[in-house]
Amino acid sequence: MAKCDEGYPCQVCSEDVGSIVDSALYLQYVIGWIDPETLHTQRECHVRCMPTLAQFIDDERFVPAVFVEGDFDRRQLDTEFVRERAQLVTEGFQRLLELQAARGEIAVVEYPLPHVRNKWQ
Ligand SMILES: [Zn+2]
Repeated sequence: MAKCDEGYPCQVCSEDVGSIVDSALYLQYVIGWIDPETLHTQRECHVRCMPTLAQFIDDERFVPAVFVEGDFDRRQLDTEFVRERAQLVTEGFQRLLELQAARGEIAVVEYPLPHVRNKWQ
């Protein structure tokens, strides 16, 4: 991740989002929910400060896991919807781990998951 991409304050808790793996913005970007044109106009946010998104990360490296109480609790939602969403969001989280490991060797346009990039081309 480039130096200039680091240290934007979270819109929920105001603390800096120091790492790409903590970024709800980049997570949504790699899974195709934010398109490249609007990426830099969006406010940064910790993935943990967006629990309705974070609860779909099924990865042992994402600890502690996040749970939501109430209507948006994944345990209350449609099983098939939850399965698809968890697959996508988990893939996105794993992609962020790869990007972090690559330390800026990957261009921002190459960040999204392959099936997301294909959709945009
Ligand atoms: Zn935050």
